[in-house]
Amino acid sequence: MKTFFRKHILTFLFIAYFFFLGGAYPQSERNPPIRIVSEEKNPEFAQKILGLAKWAYDKIVFDYGFNRKNHAFIGPGNEVYTPYEKDGIIEIHLCEDIESPYAHLEHKGGLEYEATIFFPLDYKEYQEKAGIEDKDLDLKAALIHEISHIITYSYNQNFPNLKNWPWYYEGLALFFESLIGYEFKTKFDESVLLWKYIHEAHGMAVIEEVSAKFKWMSPKKSSRQEAEEIIAETVGKTRKEFLKDFKKWKKDLI
Ligand SMILES: [Zn+2]
Repeated sequence: MKTFFRKHILTFLFIAYFFFLGGAYPQSERNPPIRIVSEEKNPEFAQKILGLAKWAYDKIVFDYGFNRKNHAFIGPGNEVYTPYEKDGIIEIHLCEDIESPYAHLEHKGGLEYEATIFFPLDYKEYQEKAGIEDKDLDLKAALIHEISHIITYSYNQNFPNLKNWPWYYEGLALFFESLIGYEFKTKFDESVLLWKYIHEAHGMAVIEEVSAKFKWMSPKKSSRQEAEEIIAETVGKTRKEFLKDFKKWKKDLI
């Protein structure tokens, strides 16, 4: 036993080291850079939204792996990776005069932006009007959706163009909603299916990788075709092969 231990001491240390890192990482690093503005309007609701926003951020950044250097919103030591973002903090505004939540990069002059999410104060009322049954799941879905917009903006740092790519940033946001079990408006959406297919056939790491690569899409072209070429190349296929396999997968769904 003694020899065995001596022989394998390095392996033990190695495992212990990773075990320690794996255990320590989330606690020390998971401090999502989010704050609520206008909290005083409804402190209880504000705390709920903040908690869910942090949960959504953790999910995308740490569970789904959108934490690549110089693409993630901030680095593990809170260093700001987004050159255009003013303070590296996502600000959530609770508003009385809006119907549905939305993410926005507020222009602060020059090349500076502030990552913001506007969230309706009377969201409950909206949920009731819309006849939403699972209100908590709906709220979670709303936050994972909007937080994903901020993260994809930061991943690309290409946001003037992003507006033209709803198949990417809306499709991905709705796909994330579906991952937490919410398919209210997403079931047959073509752009959601694209991400579902990539996820199923190639895994989340590919979605993260292509998100990072989209940063380098040509501003003028940045077409769906160019994106498909990037995706196909990442999974080792030609665009034609990729589209054929996607089509086959969709057919099998029905
Ligand atoms: Zn959206």
